[in-house]
Amino acid sequence: MSEQTYRYHISDCKKYARCPRLFVYSQNEDKETFRPFVRLDEEVTELAAQMLGIPADSRFTGKRGDSPDLALAALHEKEWLIKARFEAGQLRVKVPFLHRQESGWDLYFLFIGLYPHADDLQFYCDTAWVLEENDIALNDIYIIHLNAGYVREKELDVHQLFTVSDRFYNSRNHPSALIRDLIFREMKDLTGMLSSMDACSLDSMSAPIRTSRCSSRQKCRYYDRCFPFEKEEPDNSIVTLIASQHKHAMKGEGIRFLKDADPARIEGSRQQYAQIMADRGTGLFCDRLALRSWLGRIRYPVTFIDFEWERFAIPPYEGMRPYDVLPFEYSMHILKEDGTMEHTVYLSVHDDRRSLAESLLKDAAPSGSVIAYNAEGAEKIRIRELADLYPDLAEGLLDLNERMEDLQLPFESGIVYDTRMKGFWSLKVIMGMMNDASYKDLDIQQGMDAVFEWRSLDQNEEVENSEKIIEELKAYCGMDTYAMTVVYAWLKKLASEQPLYSNI
Ligand code: SF4
Repeated sequence: MSEQTYRYHISDCKKYARCPRLFVYSQNEDKETFRPFVRLDEEVTELAAQMLGIPADSRFTGKRGDSPDLALAALHEKEWLIKARFEAGQLRVKVPFLHRQESGWDLYFLFIGLYPHADDLQFYCDTAWVLEENDIALNDIYIIHLNAGYVREKELDVHQLFTVSDRFYNSRNHPSALIRDLIFREMKDLTGMLSSMDACSLDSMSAPIRTSRCSSRQKCRYYDRCFPFEKEEPDNSIVTLIASQHKHAMKGEGIRFLKDADPARIEGSRQQYAQIMADRGTGLFCDRLALRSWLGRIRYPVTFIDFEWERFAIPPYEGMRPYDVLPFEYSMHILKEDGTMEHTVYLSVHDDRRSLAESLLKDAAPSGSVIAYNAEGAEKIRIRELADLYPDLAEGLLDLNERMEDLQLPFESGIVYDTRMKGFWSLKVIMGMMNDASYKDLDIQQGMDAVFEWRSLDQNEEVENSEKIIEELKAYCGMDTYAMTVVYAWLKKLASEQPLYSNI
């Protein structure tokens, strides 16, 4: 193996461009084992190579740790280069596919998503810059991506699975700007930036300043490190104001609490109103008229339901599309009018959606309301997908959706707000306010942890402690529906109190 001569990957350039401090923090941190949210069992590059029809004898395939000399030599010997490593100015890139043409090389990027957008342009430009620095003349540029319309039949069809696009997609996922044109228009010489990255250190930086780069799109992973005092903010701090553009500016001017928010600089959502009213009173706001109206729709017996599922980039089973999900577990609490409760958990260690759908129909109460938390964004969709998959079960499944209510609604619509929520309204946050059993005691504490644990069971024949993992998965999912029953009881109690419209 050749001695390492490079220092940076494109991900480092992206971090530096977003924030030099973020770049330095990440350089000094142990690399965590990456656990993807979306499951990808297949070697996607190999599938794409099959789709491109690349013969085995005309390809060079690079690998981790390769000297860039190998790829440069392959340019003279092979028609196709796959995963070739090139370097320029201490930056190393892995190029998915290069295909020799008379006038240069066609470059194919590989995007394991449905619609490549130009917002990741820096990645594409930086790769093209390294190739240009190596005197590789680029001809056409394409992005291979997953085809959103593909439905898997028994066998995976790579020609249907992928789409080869010469254009980026716009916000409506329609083809827009030519990839090649945009890359050559926006490509920058990285020499200066790479030198600045070399010279960058924490010692040379002033104190962090909060800007949109800290939390826009995705909250920076170092946010708490840069602004540790925010965690110490009181429950009614102005910085808990939901979806507020000006909360940090107000705080900077000395407005510390929700109750003092500047009316001219709040967006005026119902949630913000509830927050401010809560802080002007005892810390709890409740629009009892609206809450009673919502609760009035709930009928006994009440079935509380929660699913766990896995998402696959490449459809593993017949009838699935790219990025489809596979539900593998549900928990159900059924609350009867006399206050008694039944609990059921269904868990399948491998794909058994038919059995899950049948059990769901058997376990759910045949009448009354069905309640989920974030029902519109999750449980209703899962049930509709099962109904599409098993038309003979569709009537019963869609009836569950007809009866479904979203327990999140009183919180996300500003009917109820407690300053202890600190601007959030997940089930976990709401449960944190209750003096009741909480997720803290469970070995599996996060939804994604549950998925990772199930993934280990599904992917491996033999898993140490598999029975313990199964019990933990059941306990975790069961806690979610139990939590819903606790929150539901709390809302009923709140609604029964006086006055009707109150922050006292
Ligand atoms: S929180 Fe903001 S200032 Fe801190 S590292 Fe992240 S982007 Fe940079």
